Amino acid sequence: MIVVRTVADLRAALRDRRTGTIGFVPTMGALHEGHVSLLRAARGGNDTLVLSIFVNPTQFDEQSDLAAYPRTEAADLAVAEGAGVDVVFAPDAAEMYPRGFSTVVSVSGPVAETLEGAQRGRAHFDGVATVVCKLLLSVLPDSAYFGAKDAQQVAVVRRLVADLSIPVRVVVCPTSRDDDGLARSSRNARLAPDERARAIAIPRALSAVTDAAAAGVTDTAALRAEARAVLAGAGVEPEYVALVDPVSFEPVVVREGPVLVAIAARVGRTRLIDNVVLEPVRQPAHSGRPADSAHEGGA
Ligand code: AMP
Repeated sequence: MIVVRTVADLRAALRDRRTGTIGFVPTMGALHEGHVSLLRAARGGNDTLVLSIFVNPTQFDEQSDLAAYPRTEAADLAVAEGAGVDVVFAPDAAEMYPRGFSTVVSVSGPVAETLEGAQRGRAHFDGVATVVCKLLLSVLPDSAYFGAKDAQQVAVVRRLVADLSIPVRVVVCPTSRDDDGLARSSRNARLAPDERARAIAIPRALSAVTDAAAAGVTDTAALRAEARAVLAGAGVEPEYVALVDPVSFEPVVVREGPVLVAIAARVGRTRLIDNVVLEPVRQPAHSGRPADSAHEGGA
């Protein structure tokens, strides 16, 4: 495994590896089992595995959050080695944003402007889109791996990759969770034991919505109320509980197709996000559709 700090050294390290496939996992470090699940998927599917570690200042809306963000490079490199990483790209801010840097990649519309975009401000997804774009163009991987936990980030990345015709396959890996259901996050380390116990209300609220949906509830206001009741029971006040289209992030009123249920909540000083996707509603057998309608459109 080699560690490079500049785009030039990264390109040099990858020059002879382009005859095989390159898989890329971008991270902000403080690696945990969630990141490792991405590395495992990327390792399995590619000849070369590249990991980036860069705490991107431009996507932080709060200076205190940026300052408190865990930086554990020595431990991260050990994890990377264990996960079979070939090349670690760990630049500093001056390498990524040299003097005179003036370009912003900005995705517009509900996909970037609602939920996290509304709570954290426009600059958040501008920061994400710009750094992901620069990282993808620096690595030029065949496939890049992202976690479903950051569902809106995935949607923004998919949008920019499609819009800018970046030749990369976006692979989304399932959310890795602790045994009690809490989504793994670098920020979990900041939770005090009592906060950690209350934070479980977030995955529980998502489970309650999944159960209600499975029981046939289609009205999204009722599903949202279900989640809010679980959160309130644990004294967790959400920033939002939203049911949206997983691609466009337009709000969904009556569930038909797949629906993303997304929650953001502050537990103590730690801001947590999590989500689940509800499968499309199956047409009941007595829906009145013609008996042969399943063959319509050759589907
Ligand atoms: P971060 O270091 O937080 O920027 O995350 C880097 C990548 O790891 C992103 O694609 C995240 O979505 C992904 N990730 C973070 N936590 C998890 C998790 N619990 N399960 C799966 N992927 C995750």
